[in-house]
Amino acid sequence: MKMIKLKGIGVSGGVGIGRAFVMRKDDLAIPKRKITHDHISREIYKLEEALIETRREISILQKKISKELGFDHGRIFEAHYLVLEDRVLIEDVITQIKNKRVNVEYAFSQSIEKYVSTLLKLEDEYLRERVIDIEDIAKRVLRKILKESTVTLSDLKEKVVIVAHDLSPSQTASLPKDKILGFVTDIGGRTSHTAIIAKGLRIPAVVGVEVATGNIDSGIKIIVDGSSGQVIVSPTEKTLKEYQKKLSIYTKEIKSIHISTELKAHTKDGKDAVISANIELPEELALVKKYGAEGIGLYRTEYMFLGRRDLPSEEEQYKAYCSVAKKISPQPVVFRTIDIGGDKFLSQPQVPREMSPFLGWRAIRFCLARPEVFKTQLRAILRASVEKNVKLMFPMISGIEELRQAKYILKECQKELKKEGKAFDEKISVGTMIEVPSAALTADVLAKESDFFSIGTNDLIQYSLAVDRGNEKVAYLYEPGHPAVLRLIKSVIEVAHQNNTWVGMCGEMSGEPIFAFLLLGIGLDQFSMSPPQVPKIKELINNVNFEDAKKIINNTLSLSTPKEVEKYLQKELKKLLSEEIYHMLMI
Ligand code: PEP
Ligand code: MG
Repeated sequence: MKMIKLKGIGVSGGVGIGRAFVMRKDDLAIPKRKITHDHISREIYKLEEALIETRREISILQKKISKELGFDHGRIFEAHYLVLEDRVLIEDVITQIKNKRVNVEYAFSQSIEKYVSTLLKLEDEYLRERVIDIEDIAKRVLRKILKESTVTLSDLKEKVVIVAHDLSPSQTASLPKDKILGFVTDIGGRTSHTAIIAKGLRIPAVVGVEVATGNIDSGIKIIVDGSSGQVIVSPTEKTLKEYQKKLSIYTKEIKSIHISTELKAHTKDGKDAVISANIELPEELALVKKYGAEGIGLYRTEYMFLGRRDLPSEEEQYKAYCSVAKKISPQPVVFRTIDIGGDKFLSQPQVPREMSPFLGWRAIRFCLARPEVFKTQLRAILRASVEKNVKLMFPMISGIEELRQAKYILKECQKELKKEGKAFDEKISVGTMIEVPSAALTADVLAKESDFFSIGTNDLIQYSLAVDRGNEKVAYLYEPGHPAVLRLIKSVIEVAHQNNTWVGMCGEMSGEPIFAFLLLGIGLDQFSMSPPQVPKIKELINNVNFEDAKKIINNTLSLSTPKEVEKYLQKELKKLLSEEIYHMLMI
């Protein structure tokens, strides 16, 4: 195959070189294998078996639904039968197996893709809507085939580069990380959750490639350059050598980053800054310690709720939170109550599809509407707070009423626990995440009823600039240095301080050196970020003066475009730091 270069958004630096492992929707990884002439009939037999078994399964399901809900409901499976009995489709799969000599699951998924894309082009709305049924039936058939030939990541002997249309947060979280050399996805933006996890685990990643799954087959050699956003499929020997060199330089540079064992960071002129870590999975706890973070500034608790059929019980959550609090003690951990919705969905309760999920039933809105889910979590966090290093915060607060309602439910939980004689920290700090412009603009009101703020710029940027954070088409507009964003942040920090409220930032922006420098000047108290960013930001803080950071604020805020802001901040930092430190910060 000829070498192809694809371009996407580099969201997690470094170079990954290896064979591709293409993951199709719904966790099903469909490998492409060449088969010999002798195996053709075996593959066709597998297809026939799978179709018969699926038909049997659908018929049982149909009878059950008709019995429970009536005959009309049972008819929803008619489209399923149409696919299972579609001779054109079946012949297409068989032809591929025979002529292209590929395995049945690969041939079947290719035929289904063709089928679906044809339907999507049709004017007929009824037929277009059948796509969901077809995808459902396709998954059922594939599962049946894959029973015998599933290749899961854990079965693989070698490490691979994961290629997917998209990876849901739960898929990303459940992948065996020791098998992954890199991620490439068709969709996604700089702060999509796959990007955040990849960065946290220091796995090179390029998202928003748009045509990755269309151009890459499992087993093909690829290179992922997470710094430049380049993906090279089937590289020539020369390109391969070039990138192997790049990889070894990068590995050396990463190793040379100074990891300070001293937890505190302070500027040369003595201003303290707290540098802590954001995590979503218990396995990242080791990284918090490894990179010398001062506790956990954001624990994304919703990851415990993803990728499972039931909801975690109070006891299960309590144990998990306690274990995190104990392991990180005496450093603090901030548990963010579940941020479900947006791009993170539960299997149970099922939430109807929304037109704009990021603007919909997400985070605190979901929790306030589902007090039983919310209370279970609050009780678990409260009980874990006996460790005395536990704080909690609410995501996506858009106004004081939501904060009051959340705190009211928290109070109820405290009363219940007291009645039951269960211990908790009565002085637990309760914070508000500032990630919606309306919250930023009413920070004075919220500050009076919050123990601390944590600015969530990943969302604040998307909501202020009206840019979906996970959409590669508008990713060029997602600019932390946009003057509107900077003005909002400055005003939140100032207003918080006028009200004696401590302010942290847990959005990715606080881990970007140029912005961390500006935020230091504005007076941000805590910088919370992906663990591998921690040593860099500490090095930055330890090598600059607070007075110098303050001096750049007015100039930065007088600039009109994000590009000008970035250039100016880079220029100023370059002047203040040694070449070696500046280079290290920019890796
Ligand atoms: C944020 O929005 O900046 C944030 C930290 O929360 P999340 O990325 O989980 O939405
Ligand atoms: Mg957020």
